[in-house]
Amino acid sequence: MKYSLLFVLFAVHICTAQDSGLYMTPNFKASYARQTRSRDGNPGPVYWQNRADYRIEVSLDPASGLLSGQEDIVYVNNSPDTLRYLLIHLFANVYKKGTPRDFIVRYEDESEGVSIDGIKINNLTIGTDSTSKSIDYIHNDFKLHLPAPLDPQGKLNLQIAWHYSVNKGSHMRTGKVDSTSYFIAYFFPRIAVYDDIDGWNDFFYSGRAEFYNDFGNFQVTVKVPENFVVWATGILQNPEAVFLPEYQQRLQKARQSDQIIPIIDESDDPHQITRQHAINNWKFEAADVSDFAFAISDHYLWQGSGPVVDPAGNRRVFISAAFNRHAGDFYEVARLAREAIHFMSTDFPGIPYPYPSMTVFNGLDEMEYPMMVNDMSFKDSSYVRKLTSHEIFHSYFPFYMGINESKYAWMDEGFASYGDYLISRALDKSGYCSIYYLDRYKENQIYDVDVPIMVNSKLLKKYAYHYNAYAKPAVFLIILRDLLGDTVFKHVIRIYMDRWQGKHPSPYDFFNTVNQITGKNLNWLFKAWFFEFGYGDLALRDVQRGPDGYVITIEKVGPFPLPLRLKIAYMDGNVQFLNKNVSIWEEGNKVYTLTVETNEIIKRIELVPDELPDADIRNNSIELDSRPRQ
Ligand SMILES: [Zn+2]
Repeated sequence: MKYSLLFVLFAVHICTAQDSGLYMTPNFKASYARQTRSRDGNPGPVYWQNRADYRIEVSLDPASGLLSGQEDIVYVNNSPDTLRYLLIHLFANVYKKGTPRDFIVRYEDESEGVSIDGIKINNLTIGTDSTSKSIDYIHNDFKLHLPAPLDPQGKLNLQIAWHYSVNKGSHMRTGKVDSTSYFIAYFFPRIAVYDDIDGWNDFFYSGRAEFYNDFGNFQVTVKVPENFVVWATGILQNPEAVFLPEYQQRLQKARQSDQIIPIIDESDDPHQITRQHAINNWKFEAADVSDFAFAISDHYLWQGSGPVVDPAGNRRVFISAAFNRHAGDFYEVARLAREAIHFMSTDFPGIPYPYPSMTVFNGLDEMEYPMMVNDMSFKDSSYVRKLTSHEIFHSYFPFYMGINESKYAWMDEGFASYGDYLISRALDKSGYCSIYYLDRYKENQIYDVDVPIMVNSKLLKKYAYHYNAYAKPAVFLIILRDLLGDTVFKHVIRIYMDRWQGKHPSPYDFFNTVNQITGKNLNWLFKAWFFEFGYGDLALRDVQRGPDGYVITIEKVGPFPLPLRLKIAYMDGNVQFLNKNVSIWEEGNKVYTLTVETNEIIKRIELVPDELPDADIRNNSIELDSRPRQ
């Protein structure tokens, strides 16, 4: 008994010592004290999250851009707290006159915002006008005060009717794409996330870093006039009710085909594709997703196939591209999307693509949604592969994983940037493999425009957002893989994904999982790269020739620990590459020496940072006195 108590005390001491390495605010500390999260990186024994299932009917009039909808939400409070109000997001209000935002909206694209036409809670009608005591409007959100508190484990039914005018220009994520095509995102009032760390997440949406939603089932009916085709999150449930027989058959064939099939091509008559009803009702369903988006057009082409992504269950995924016939690059996108999904399913992360479909829609953005991508057209085919792969990679982060992008954009953009970099390196024969924003970061890291990655994404603008959401975390994953080796690295990432799939991991859940699974304490590395100001710079300080070879001295000038990549050129023309992983800096040393045992004569030694940020490359090489030894 005494021994086991001692052991427990000892174990607690070790955990505390480890945790004390990483700065943590009291909201996170409280989540460990309440055991909603575990210090080993697992969800805690009392981890909880709330859930909202949506049934939506939405009409879009392509001529006027008027969108109107009604929804029926079943919300379950799994938290231990009694909720007295719900926080409802109205992200479409980012286009409302006077709303602060991160992007420019032309005067003519500003709107009156979303009109709430009616609300019922458990069938009780709630007043929605400006005098209503039940509603507090706060820019893109409103607080809905509940007529009766929602107890722990309680469930409520919320019905909302609304309408707004979709922006015709100033496209940011959503809006009109051309005269008769639209990509529609964030179109429905939705309940914000109430979680174990922050309670209601009221981080203001101003045009980016928006994803943080409860998981739920979506049953959505999109109502559009005849001749308009609808693409959306999930699977179309009623193809026979909306397509004429020829197109039902083509769609069915493509869903089962290993080859890419043209479902709608240039020779098709756009008036002979859909059922000729004044309004067609397109019914989609998606299970356990965190968002829903759709797109419409009456003249887009459509290609797709349904390859098996999970041989274990012989499960097929319908992967397609819908595009304007003048978008030359998009004729390749169905294939690029398919290749990207194959890579993700079999290599990294090596988890079969977790959804039944993926549609890449030729819109005006570079943006991801569950099972939908809104990508503009580009001429550079390498970039088209990179972009397509990047946006589809988001299927895992933030969607499969339930990341809080609004606070930790690096947890999805960093992983997606690492993912598209891997795919481009593996599949792009022309070798295009840059990391988003890395080149600019390499140039700018000597200026005081950067902050630590852990700074809440909502507080970041411009450079600081781009470097910390994309470039730095992607480089960090390269460094971590270099340290752990590819096999262990993938194993750790998959365990992290397995633990937190369909949940809401925090940065500490990632760090703690890496520590626990590797059996290492990498807090020194997390601390430097995520919590502290810094830049990367290694310097080749000295090379001494001795009786057995050469002693090389490297100085860590910048605070960020970096792996060592040395290129050694010998007099006889041979070239040797020597790599040391980042653990050479683990003890906090600023200087590292290594010996190259050789009888040959070295002519030149150079640090080759490749994709690693090295702020001063002038200190990266030494030419040696290469006279023969006396
Ligand atoms: Zn991204």
